[in-house]
Order: sequence, then structure tokens, then C-alpha cells
Amino acid sequence: MAWQGIEGHDDVVARFVAAASRGRIAGAFLFIGPDGVGKGLFARTLAKALVCPAPRPGLEPCGNCPSCIQASAGSHPDIDVVEKPEDRATIPLEVFIGDREHRMREGLCWRILLAPALGRRKVAIILDADHLSDEAANCLLKTLEEPPDSSAIILVGTALERQLPTIRSRCQIIRFAPLESGTVATILRRDIASGAIEAAGIDDATIDSCAARSGGSLSRARLLLDPHLAGFRARLLDMLSHRPLHGVDLAREVQQLVEAAGKDAPPRRARLRVVLGAALDFFRASLRSSAGSADAGRDGERQPTADPELQHAVASWGGSAEQATVGIRCTLDALDGIERNAHLPTLVDAWTVHLEPAAPPAPPGKGR
Ligand SMILES: [Zn+2]
Repeated sequence: MAWQGIEGHDDVVARFVAAASRGRIAGAFLFIGPDGVGKGLFARTLAKALVCPAPRPGLEPCGNCPSCIQASAGSHPDIDVVEKPEDRATIPLEVFIGDREHRMREGLCWRILLAPALGRRKVAIILDADHLSDEAANCLLKTLEEPPDSSAIILVGTALERQLPTIRSRCQIIRFAPLESGTVATILRRDIASGAIEAAGIDDATIDSCAARSGGSLSRARLLLDPHLAGFRARLLDMLSHRPLHGVDLAREVQQLVEAAGKDAPPRRARLRVVLGAALDFFRASLRSSAGSADAGRDGERQPTADPELQHAVASWGGSAEQATVGIRCTLDALDGIERNAHLPTLVDAWTVHLEPAAPPAPPGKGR
């Protein structure tokens, strides 16, 4: 039975349950793991258990007290969640210490000093910890150096290298692995059954295939279920494997798909992430195919399962290991650009401009 409905992270749960039973929950944590594996949900669930004044053994919140009810509703006064605003590249300083007129009279670092209003602890959750500005990180550092009694601070990020060494050294590091594809499929089915995902026309085989291609990320699996994206993947593989690569066509079609997500930036970025993720799978599979299986899984990514569409594209591309490596690098750069809030059309153009010269030439006697 999963702890509090958390699937796929039993090792992390066991660690916290053991610490709680010894009465030794640390004051600062750094959650590290890929996007979409449930780190944020875990942080909120843990917070609910930590603030409940009458928890049961096994770090189980009682579920009935005012603290539990407000935590479930997302309105608990002692659970403080901050994240990067969509339109900013970093979490602004004022989120931590208040704006100029209210320095250290507002903000997370000030609020955590106050006594708990309801529960037995205060918990601060900092999502998007990859995007702390240096100024903000320095302010937070002071809080991490001397965390108030009965408080816990949870930073949630994707890579250890993205955190300042000074932050890392003051936190207990908790690693979250990509989810097993079977777990992703189970959660997708649960969400479809509960109506959280629209299920029109989604059959079992599609769910399994999306889960297998999700790289262990639930958010990516949910996007893959989107029929527009599912249809585009075949087209993308066609364009990527075409010799020679037509960068302008590729950029135009990717751009059209991204714009069709609507006017808002978050769904546009989410779509582009999926497209680039599929391209990354293609170049990684090409690298594995040209370099034998020696490099398989070297970068810690879960290997995609046998996928005839992908294998066919890789075989017809026939690029070298060097060409595949350039593809991987350009695509990772583009993915990084999304996280840095780069202008998306420029980013897509730059991606294709760098891909084109590195792609294999037209086969003899062919080409446009
Ligand atoms: Zn409770």
C-alpha cells in the first residue's frame, strides 16, 4: 500500500518514516530528481504529515484535525510554498525577504521565524530551486544556517549541479529516481478513472506506450497522451531522419505545433519540451545504435523500450556517433533554454540551425 497515495518512491518514504520514528527529522532537505516524478507532491504530502499535531506511527497524518484538513485544501497557514513565477527566469528576491518597503517584514525567510499558527511545525517548500538567483540563495542561506526550531525547509530541484555548493552542504539530499513505466501507467489509469485526465479515445495500448516513452516522468506521459502531440511524433521522426535535414521546415512545423497550444507560455513550453524530448530520444537511440550498446544508459536516463517507429527512423537516418552527439548537445541546449525562459521561436530556430550542418548528407543520387 503506497504511503499517502505516493507511488514509486518507497525508498524515500522508508527513509522519512525511519527518521520520524527516531524523532530525528532534519531541518533542511534538498529534493533532487527529474521533472514530473512527484517531488513537489511528495514535499506537500510530507509537510502535511509533519505539521499534523496528532500523527500516527509511520509518519501518517491523522487526516481529521483542522491542520490536516487545511493542509489537504492547500490553505495551511504553516505550510509555505513558493515557486518561480512563469514570466521570470528566477525566483525573485522579494519572495524570500519582502520588497524594498518591507525588507524582512515579509517573505518566506521572515514568515518561517513566526511561531506555528496551527500545527506543531512550520514547513517551507521552495519549488524550482534550480532557479534561485544568487541574491535569493544568499538570503536563504542565512535561514538554512540557523533554521528556527520546529521548522523544516524543503528545496525541490532537478539536478545537484544546479544548486550552489553552500546550499547543498546545508541540506540533507534526497534523490528521486524516474518512475518505472509500470508505475506511470498505473497512475495514468488512476487519473483517467478519477476524471483528472480526459480519456476520450485513449485505449490501454496507448497508455502503456505513453508510459514507456515518458522517461519515467508523469508530466511527460500526460502530455504524450495529447492526441496532437502523439500524431506529431511520427512527423518529427520523419523530418529528423530525412537526409538531408531540412532545418527551415522542421523549425516551421515545430513552431506551428507550439503555437497551437494557445496563447499562454506554460502550455507552449510544455509542448516544446515534449517535442525536444522526442528528438533527444531519437539522437540517443542513434548514438546507441552507432556506438553499440556500450553507451546505453550512461547518462542515467531510463532507456526507452523497443519502439518500432523510433528504430525505423534511426535506421533510415544512419548518422554517425559524432553526428548523434551533436544532436544530443543541441537538443539539451534547447531544453535548457526553455528553463531559462528563452524566446521560443528564436530557440527553435537556433536548434534547427545547429542541427542542420551536423546531420548526414543526402544519400547519393537523392535529395531535394
Ligand atoms: Zn492531523
